[in-house]
Amino acid sequence: MQQEKKKVTENLFPYIFNETVAFYQKRYVKNVAKKNLVKLGINENTASRYIGSLDDMLHGEGYKSTMNLSATDYFLQKISDKFGEEKLQKALSALKQHLEYYTSLKDRTKNSKNGLWEIYYKYRNVTKIEDEDDLEQNCLDKIVIKEDIKAIVDDLMNLKVSDPVSVVINKKVFKRDNKTISQLKYLRGYCCQMCGIQILKADGSFYIEGAHIDPKKDWGNELPNNILILCPNHHKEFDYGNLERISRDDEHFKFKLNGEIYDISLKLE
Ligand SMILES: [Zn+2]
Repeated sequence: MQQEKKKVTENLFPYIFNETVAFYQKRYVKNVAKKNLVKLGINENTASRYIGSLDDMLHGEGYKSTMNLSATDYFLQKISDKFGEEKLQKALSALKQHLEYYTSLKDRTKNSKNGLWEIYYKYRNVTKIEDEDDLEQNCLDKIVIKEDIKAIVDDLMNLKVSDPVSVVINKKVFKRDNKTISQLKYLRGYCCQMCGIQILKADGSFYIEGAHIDPKKDWGNELPNNILILCPNHHKEFDYGNLERISRDDEHFKFKLNGEIYDISLKLE
């Protein structure tokens, strides 16, 4: 009778991590690591798959076979704790390649990978380097500017908190939040909603920022009625100044900031 496949449960994650690191650091060959995991009751193929994927992750190479969500989460945390931020970024790059590979395969896998994208963004947000977000935002600004205003308004109006965290445009995967901000920037004419200023960049485009009314750390969402388009000065004043909320609904936000009253339209038009 064939033994039933043992599921890779949480208590096994530390062993998989340690054995793979031993192989990665060339303390012994892959077969030894695999045998050690099989001794714990992990199926041979599964052990091989996990060691291979985690090793690819440590090398920053996109892996093909899948690991479960909580294992991925655990490994990223361990990589960050043990090897630091630079290695975490490599691992994130591997995860991104993995996800893009699956997204490119078929549309039907797009949503099922949403949990993994969430993990990806969770760790990307804690790495101090925000280049990736800036690059994405620049790229999205250029894409969005070619879109029809009506399509943008429709897209923003129909946006729900439960929508997938990632979005595919021209076969590239972007963070949905970044697309929302690019769309709002375009809709607001790249002007600060508090002072109307525009900041011209050398390439002829405009620099402006998205600010959250309810901060993300307080579980503020990424829907249009929670995002103001502000110049860097007003963004910081809004985040750090003395803010008194006066009234707010889906189309309006009235507040007092450092003694000055602002009445900002949140209408999508
Ligand atoms: Zn301003």
